[in-house]
Amino acid sequence: MKAMVFREAHAPLQAEDRETPSPGAHDIVVRVLACAVCRTDLHVQDAELPDVAYPIVPGHQVVGEVEARGPDAEFEVGDRVGVTWLGWACGECPDCERGEENLCRNAEFTGYQRDGGFAEAMLVDSRFCLALDKSLPVVETTPLLCAGMIGFRTLRMAGDAQRIGIYGFGSAAHIITQVAVAESREIYAFTRAGDRRAQSFAKDLGATWAGDSETPAPIELDAALIFAPVGSLVPKSLRDLRRGGRVVCGGIHMSDIPSFPYADLWGERRIQSVANLTRKDGRDFMEIAARLDIRPSVTRYPLAEANRALADLRRGALEGTAVLEMEEPTTAKAHARRIPKAARPI
Ligand SMILES: [Zn+2]
Ligand SMILES: [Zn+2]
Repeated sequence: MKAMVFREAHAPLQAEDRETPSPGAHDIVVRVLACAVCRTDLHVQDAELPDVAYPIVPGHQVVGEVEARGPDAEFEVGDRVGVTWLGWACGECPDCERGEENLCRNAEFTGYQRDGGFAEAMLVDSRFCLALDKSLPVVETTPLLCAGMIGFRTLRMAGDAQRIGIYGFGSAAHIITQVAVAESREIYAFTRAGDRRAQSFAKDLGATWAGDSETPAPIELDAALIFAPVGSLVPKSLRDLRRGGRVVCGGIHMSDIPSFPYADLWGERRIQSVANLTRKDGRDFMEIAARLDIRPSVTRYPLAEANRALADLRRGALEGTAVLEMEEPTTAKAHARRIPKAARPI
């Protein structure tokens, strides 16, 4: 099978031909149909996360099909599954026992400690996979599996905030704006200075206001959700908040936060991070996304052009999410064309 691999830090992906892995007792081999690209994949490339397991195949937003299974695995061959960031949690540590497997101190994450979905196939612990309905669109579902789920956890941390600032209008933001607008909340979108395209994209999705991240908010905000990996946005967004408001940092990595006067935090303003996701987060969000008919906006790339997808994400050239799409076998393609979508077997 073909895989795109970070062999070491600070280097582009390399194409490799690898043996398809064979499953252990609880494992499944997933044939990857599509895998969305996340900012975390850049943090893995840049070694901004500790102890990346190089050589590593990145990618943790996978829609695929079960190709083989271990004797004790959940799912059957041919089932449609989603693979997310939480690849494994121990179930025994104090964090897991509290029901916070997202904080598990022994956890292993997809595309970070375990090989991910920038490949034609991958090995996954079936107990951490999500069952997906075959009627879901493959490519448009992939961004829901991290950007949507982590974004949703971030939004939930904002409580019942009505006026919400979103700082960094990329993959997570464009999904979560749709959820917030459906919940009749107001979104204030802050983008890189002068990024008119991202600002009009935010407005198209229902944002009340969009502007540069250095511009003061036009109104006192109840909450600020930060998705851009820029530490200076923490004190900036604090100044945009009303008393009692909170700043929620949704990313896994951020540049250092500059010092700021205590007066900016005073008034019971709060700052918190969001770390990873639980399996329940995943199931909950997929239900909500289906009910609200959330539609991520995607740019497609073939697997071999994964480096171009990463570069486009890095320079902020995307509207929504980059998704790597695998080649379908030629016969399957011809077959799919002949059968109208509604008549396809589920
Ligand atoms: Zn991610
Ligand atoms: Zn644990």
